[in-house]
Amino acid sequence: MSDMWSGGCQCGAVRYEIAAAEVLTLVCCHCRECQRQSASAFGMSLILPRAAFALVQGHLQSFQWRSERGTARRGNFCPTCGVRIYNDDAEAGSWVSVKAGTLDDTSILDPVGHLWTKRAQPWVSLPEELLLYPAEPETDDAINAAYQKRTRP
Ligand SMILES: [Zn+2]
Ligand SMILES: [Zn+2]
Repeated sequence: MSDMWSGGCQCGAVRYEIAAAEVLTLVCCHCRECQRQSASAFGMSLILPRAAFALVQGHLQSFQWRSERGTARRGNFCPTCGVRIYNDDAEAGSWVSVKAGTLDDTSILDPVGHLWTKRAQPWVSLPEELLLYPAEPETDDAINAAYQKRTRP
């Protein structure tokens, strides 16, 4: 499978491509960081190996912060319109978490789980058949397996 997914920022300066077959998982996160970053109720994280992400136009600016776990996280965004394209780990950096709403075709997005449900807005209804975690899962094994079972049976 050689499908490429394309996406970009709001002003059009930044464009990227993703090797769809390499995607590890797709989840929604209701933590306060994601609520603030998305300026909305939750964030959508498409997790993939760094090598599966290619910036094909424009450039990104970044800033760093410490997560609740104490790891150095980095947000990468379009310097013109400010749209966040992906987050990554500033130190190790073998993976990226693409902000899935920046894809050109968001109809393909179907999250397998929800993280930080204890912070979810009370009017958000969570599908009980999905993987639901009150905070972060101990490991990503279950959310990765669920996504890969669905997309590569
Ligand atoms: Zn832009
Ligand atoms: Zn979050």
